[in-house]
Amino acid sequence: MRGVRRIPAADFYTGVKRNALEADELITAVHLPTEHRTAEQFSKVGTRNAMVIAVCSLAVVIRDGYAGVAIGSAAPTPRRVAAAEQFLTTELPWDTRAPLADSMKRRFAGLVADATEPIDDVRGSAQYRTHALGVLARRALTWAWDDYRGSAAACA
Ligand SMILES: Cc1cc2nc3c(=O)[nH]c(=O)nc-3n(C[C@H](O)[C@H](O)[C@H](O)COP(=O)(O)OP(=O)(O)OC[C@H]3O[C@@H](n4cnc5c(N)ncnc54)[C@H](O)[C@@H]3O)c2cc1C
Repeated sequence: MRGVRRIPAADFYTGVKRNALEADELITAVHLPTEHRTAEQFSKVGTRNAMVIAVCSLAVVIRDGYAGVAIGSAAPTPRRVAAAEQFLTTELPWDTRAPLADSMKRRFAGLVADATEPIDDVRGSAQYRTHALGVLARRALTWAWDDYRGSAAACA
């Protein structure tokens, strides 16, 4: 028994089908921040609506002055999209909470697509995954920002 350790999610995934878990370790908990006024969206492309393995997936989190963005099934590991996070943190209209311009959504979609590093496999082609993640990014950002604007207004 070597005790307990915590590891950031970003450091856990080390490669295709590989992670930082040692042979004698078990995952006993996943710690998530529980903050007020957080808007979160998770979108996945699959071949049907019911439970099915992802062709690609995207998560967006927006909370006061902070944005988190991650993609799945479009690179050797799930990955954060630092450029997209930085873009949202800097460019979202935090003060006015105005609806987002289409140009901003397109720029965000481009940053997400640029972060993909997919391959063709039985689930889908690399080209499709990159395209689909751009579409998911535009939609998920719109939904998350609208949720954030609504919850921020309710708390004001
Ligand atoms: C049967 C089943 C049903 C599921 N149902 C759901 C569901 O209903 N809803 C849901 O949200 N989740 C579901 N999941 C889980 C979801 O599919 C996974 O959480 C998700 O696929 C994990 O993404 P990942 O990026 O961690 O790994 P993976 O999806 O395994 O992605 C790894 C990627 O690495 C790529 N790759 C391999 N080698 C290389 C290389 N050398 N260079 C670059 N890329 C490479 C592969 O093509 C693959 O796209 C299901 C999973 C299974 C197995």
